[in-house]
Amino acid sequence: MSGEFEVAVIGGGLAGLTAAMTSARLGRSTAVLTGGLAGGQLVSIEHIDGVPGFPEGVPGYDLCPMAQEQCDAAGVSFLQDACEGLEPESDKWRIETASGAVIAGAVIIATGSSFVKLGVPGEKEFQGRGVSDCASCDGPLLRGKTAVVVGGGDSAMQEALALALHVDKVIMIENGDTLAGQVGYKNDVEANGKIEVQTQKTVTEILGQDGVDAVRVKDVATGEEIQIQTAAVFIFVGLEPNSGFVSNAVSLNESGHVTTDASMRSSAKGVFAAGTVRAASACRAAGAMGDGATAATAAHHYLATGLWPAQD
Ligand SMILES: Cc1cc2nc3c(=O)[nH]c(=O)nc-3n(C[C@H](O)[C@H](O)[C@H](O)COP(=O)(O)OP(=O)(O)OC[C@H]3O[C@@H](n4cnc5c(N)ncnc54)[C@H](O)[C@@H]3O)c2cc1C
Repeated sequence: MSGEFEVAVIGGGLAGLTAAMTSARLGRSTAVLTGGLAGGQLVSIEHIDGVPGFPEGVPGYDLCPMAQEQCDAAGVSFLQDACEGLEPESDKWRIETASGAVIAGAVIIATGSSFVKLGVPGEKEFQGRGVSDCASCDGPLLRGKTAVVVGGGDSAMQEALALALHVDKVIMIENGDTLAGQVGYKNDVEANGKIEVQTQKTVTEILGQDGVDAVRVKDVATGEEIQIQTAAVFIFVGLEPNSGFVSNAVSLNESGHVTTDASMRSSAKGVFAAGTVRAASACRAAGAMGDGATAATAAHHYLATGLWPAQD
């Protein structure tokens, strides 16, 4: 794969798809590098809340393909390779991929975030054999069983609620004093008779033979350890930005997020960032879409004028 476009979007989550669609609708030749299937983190989510137009929520596997279809209709080129590096080439940018380079006058980085690993024995060994981060994918396979969810934030609560539709029991293990996140999710978790929340506990090991059989759980206050029998462990203990491959090209903050101004301009002329890869992202679907539309509009303006105001 190689090619030249006015705008190249790196990442095919909701930020990237919205940026690509907006850019193409503004008349710019636009490519989106998806690095695999388009849709990003939300594509497997059973019930996305807070998206305008969907008062009852919407499954990610419905919403993300709709956004992809809108990109297709607008004339966006989909390239499935991942970006491996970004560097300036005269007054344009060169995106390296495994099967060739893509050249673009403006680049929008929309590579989102990845789940932080728990870093305990058994996590890597049982990945895909009981260790998961997708309730809608694996929940239906766990009917009649117990599942453990590690973490107590929005993602953990949302996925625990999705799992409770399928399994007999969900045990949430949170190392803090309380669940931390949106009140609506907290209320739903507390009211759900299938979900048990254990606070001030941490998972120290995932145990099993062919698949997961149990987790070792430590009481943070007393140090006491017990085993909990479970068929699966879903880990939601934070997110980290997918920004390593652009660290030579744009400024990152201390947590690795791309810093931008309000128009999504990065520190490098012609490079923008949108969605959860950028510092100060709203970390919501609507925010990712807004970032994408803002970045594409600013890229269009930059290509038209060549103007690049310095960041504050
Ligand atoms: C479990 C969970 C539930 C959530 N539920 C909700 C909800 O109900 N409502 C809500 O508003 N928000 C929700 N969110 C937040 C929402 O998912 C994000 O705010 C939003 O999806 C971020 O979109 P994004 O495009 O920035 O990133 P992502 O969705 O992470 O997409 C980034 C894409 O870039 C790709 N990529 C990464 N590196 C490269 C590379 N080098 N080259 C090419 N492509 C690359 C990735 O594979 C991915 O497809 C949830 C998040 C999680 C984790």
